[in-house]
Amino acid sequence: MADKRDFYEVLGVSKTATEEELKKAYRVLAKKYHPDMNPGDKDAEAKFKEASEAYAVLSDPDKRAKYDQYGMSAFDGSGGAGGFEYSSADYADMFGDLFGDLFGGAFGGAFGGFGGFGSSRNANPNAPRRGANVKTTVRITFMEAMRGVKKDIEINYKEACANCGGSGCKPGTSPVSCKECGGKGVVTLTQRTIFGMAQTQRSCPSCGGAGKIIKDKCPKCMGTGYVTRKKTVTADIPAGIDDGEGIRVSGFGEPGTNGGERGDLLVQVRVASHPTFGREEYDIFTSVPISFAQAALGDTLRLETIDGPVEYELRAGTQPNTRIRLRGKGVPVPRRNERGDQYVTFMVQVPDRLNKEQKEALQAFDAACGGTLAGSEKKKKGLFK
Ligand SMILES: [Zn+2]
Ligand SMILES: [Zn+2]
Repeated sequence: MADKRDFYEVLGVSKTATEEELKKAYRVLAKKYHPDMNPGDKDAEAKFKEASEAYAVLSDPDKRAKYDQYGMSAFDGSGGAGGFEYSSADYADMFGDLFGDLFGGAFGGAFGGFGGFGSSRNANPNAPRRGANVKTTVRITFMEAMRGVKKDIEINYKEACANCGGSGCKPGTSPVSCKECGGKGVVTLTQRTIFGMAQTQRSCPSCGGAGKIIKDKCPKCMGTGYVTRKKTVTADIPAGIDDGEGIRVSGFGEPGTNGGERGDLLVQVRVASHPTFGREEYDIFTSVPISFAQAALGDTLRLETIDGPVEYELRAGTQPNTRIRLRGKGVPVPRRNERGDQYVTFMVQVPDRLNKEQKEALQAFDAACGGTLAGSEKKKKGLFK
């Protein structure tokens, strides 16, 4: 384990990072590299594990103290601090709330598609097995994200082939037991993982885990047992969802085998940016140009919010880049009766072109202020010569 990267470096935080900073850094990485969002991407999976392990240690005050004192040797059992290992169940517990955040918490049911934390698969190929999750992406506008929206998504829906009843065999024939795995569907290997030595069972390469081999394939499904058709699913996207977050539509993934339940459809939501409203977490940021006269004299302004315009009394003597807060005008927090705030920055505009009348007015104003213009003295003197 000596070749592992420093946990703080992995999360991109300083050694003095607070719990909140750690959590925030981890959320960003987890969102980016989560296996459900990067199916089949080994690199992402490795990064996800690396970040998860770093967070598992640094988010636990005891483990963090050990890590700070002994470094990585605290975790390989040789460093005297007492090594510790994690089981997949620990991970599921530890990160349940974070993933709940990432995927909108509306999923109900177990968080599937994890396959990677040394969890052993069911050895019996005839046991019910849950179908794989399927990932898709949907694009929505900024305002749709603010209000919540129902989006119809067309997916490829895999279901049992009607011709062979899902067996994959030409009607009238049946499959034969696989010789390589003796019909078990799996072969067992012992592997070194980041969690220590683990026995893992791998799908039998000969029968693909089915435990049986189809000699005469069903012509309709080419022996797969499945056919795919287009299906429209409505994704109920909650108000407040952020770009890159996902929602889960239960039961619209791949079909399970041997009566196992279907996997889920994981919908990653991409939110378009807005020309006026910027967003950070649950706060909204806007900037509003105002004239020097408005800043100096004060004015009644109409400020754009996601609920429509609101009136605002600009104070006389407002300084450039003054930022004000409109409480509760930010982004709705999903599933909570709460909203962030909106921050408005006033940008005092300096005119870049003035006509004669405007120039004279400003010079008169400057003279009334006691005359800050260096050139104005000369002009005055010239006038009285
Ligand atoms: Zn078929
Ligand atoms: Zn086999």
